Amino acid sequence: MSVDDIERVAVLGAGNMGHGITEVVAIAGYDVVMRDIEQEIVDEGYEDIEWSLEKLSEKGIVDEDPDDVMARIDTEVDLETAVEDVDLVIEAAPEQMDLKKDIYGDLSEFTPEDAILASNTSSLSITEIATATDKPDKVVGMHFFNPPVKMDLVEVIYGEETTDETAETTYDFVESIDKTPIYVRKDVNGFVVNSVLGPFGDEAGWMVSADEATIREADATMVHERGYPMGPFELGDLTGIDIGYHVRKEAGKPVPPIVEEKVEADELGQKTGKGYYDYEDGDGADYGHEDVSEDFDWLRIEARMVNEAAKLIGNDVATPDAIDTGMRLGAGFPEGPCRRADKIGLDRVLEKLEDLYEQTEAGRYEPADYLVELVNNGHTGEDAGQGFYEYGDDGGDREYRTLNVLREDEVLAIELDRPERMNALNEDLMDEIEHVLNNADLDEVRVATFEGAGDRAFCAGADIGGFAGAKPWERGTITSMFETVNDFPKPTIAKIDGFCLGGGHELALACDLRVATTESEFGFPEINLGLLPGGGGTQRTMRMIGEARAKELVFRGERISAEKAENWGLINRAVEPEEFDDVCGEFVDDIVEGPPVALDYAKKVMNRGEDASLEAALTMESQSFGLLLSTEDVLEGTSAFAEDRDPEFEGK
Ligand code: NAD
Repeated sequence: MSVDDIERVAVLGAGNMGHGITEVVAIAGYDVVMRDIEQEIVDEGYEDIEWSLEKLSEKGIVDEDPDDVMARIDTEVDLETAVEDVDLVIEAAPEQMDLKKDIYGDLSEFTPEDAILASNTSSLSITEIATATDKPDKVVGMHFFNPPVKMDLVEVIYGEETTDETAETTYDFVESIDKTPIYVRKDVNGFVVNSVLGPFGDEAGWMVSADEATIREADATMVHERGYPMGPFELGDLTGIDIGYHVRKEAGKPVPPIVEEKVEADELGQKTGKGYYDYEDGDGADYGHEDVSEDFDWLRIEARMVNEAAKLIGNDVATPDAIDTGMRLGAGFPEGPCRRADKIGLDRVLEKLEDLYEQTEAGRYEPADYLVELVNNGHTGEDAGQGFYEYGDDGGDREYRTLNVLREDEVLAIELDRPERMNALNEDLMDEIEHVLNNADLDEVRVATFEGAGDRAFCAGADIGGFAGAKPWERGTITSMFETVNDFPKPTIAKIDGFCLGGGHELALACDLRVATTESEFGFPEINLGLLPGGGGTQRTMRMIGEARAKELVFRGERISAEKAENWGLINRAVEPEEFDDVCGEFVDDIVEGPPVALDYAKKVMNRGEDASLEAALTMESQSFGLLLSTEDVLEGTSAFAEDRDPEFEGK
């Protein structure tokens, strides 16, 4: 069976995950039946979906009328009726093996022979669940993250008997509902994301238990120095301290004393009002994040996560790319652990683990064979040209991790692809933009366009955490990407739909033209962080819209609407979302069909002239005019005009 054969889907469970999964599947256009054990629970789930769809529609995230989406959802209490004519079952019932086995036994009986049976379990063995059926080849893991509507990642997990056909169809299905799948090729405990995430809280727990750091130091340093969305203890409080505790106990792993103490005191985090922080005060906990510590040994935590990743790769469970995608989308990491380790140096990571292993003899530090092998082979990371990934001389043909680059019909289309971080700029992304532009074939490309992936942002700024470790003297390089965009010899267009803030705003301003949807917002929030726009924002804005308005934007740090941005001359057009693609298309077509040499000269003269005296600028202009007179394009342009036809410029 292929994904094209899937028309009707059953979701079992209308709880937390079940109703969210139902919603996502219905939005994608499938017919879904949501089943729970009591009508009341199904009705509640149905209402939750209605409420959520309304919100998504208000925010413009779902274009279709919510009623039309709801019309594709049926509810059901009887299992047989729910699944007898479906092509795929997604089971999101409580996390108990016996219960799941009962359900899968029934599914074996009631589902059509070809139907795929997917479990959303977070921690149970797919292989064992599959033993309850007579078609274990059709059983697969389909692990969504909470809440499914927001979280982009889905792990697709092979049980021992799962066939490639089943896993591939599941993978394609996940893509068809606009989520990002990663393969987990063996049924290991915790799959990919939770395996790698485990040491984040665990190692911090050991460090605090041994008085080597405080809770606040650990959280503040991991957030501010290393760019994680929250610290290990905040995360523990959010997910529930008992959850990690039980996972480790069941796996027979030692638990850090501080975790043990919290569980014994029934201080389990937000849900009990107290955990590592106190939530009993109505305002919630004060995480503060002021206690960043130079002495906090963050490498201990990261080295252990890298070690987990290396085990997964060495055991053929997942590729570095799958792991990195998983950690970015599933855990909100600023970059994947494999990519980050390649930058840190795998030799340094290994040394950290070996030292700790020698000192403590604790199994958790025992280096993974695959990590040792990489280092022994000299594959120590980016500087060595190879680590988890291959680097080195790519001859301009590099695989981008943070961009989608499409070269078609003389258009170089660059999509910033970090939707989980609202396409925020980090070092990799800026480096890749420079690489794309510096390696563009200028004989083939007539225009470059920039846009943001996902439906929320063009680019919401710079990933602060990504730069936090940089020293002031290294920061000089941050602006080079903006200059590369500004100086790109061909016209550039920013296609803006959503937030266009901070560094993203500066990227847009470094482009020649800007078209935005009326849902976009513009601003420089830097001042609110005690910073100023550092990618040309203060200067380009002033030259573009004048001092008064530029200073208003920079000093007040407030956002303005697309209409106002158009009014102020910050963008070329603000258009309704429905017209956006057409208007962008017209801009692109005009340039692609225009005379390439004249456009190059016009851009150069206008950019350079801006900073020159009027006299010098006029001289530049007349020299360029003179040079253009001798081109074939001028001949073509003038004869086409005389013959009343469209010119065909060759760029000669
Ligand atoms: P939940 O308790 O919110 O919902 C489970 C629902 O299943 C309940 O409404 C229950 O009445 C229903 N149910 C019980 N027996 C059933 C049956 N035989 N058929 C159909 N429905 C039945 O739990 P949840 O958080 O939605 O978790 C469901 C599954 O998803 C679990 O396997 C869990 O491990 C997994 N999961 C949870 C999260 C999360 O963060 N909550 C994330 C990823 C995966």
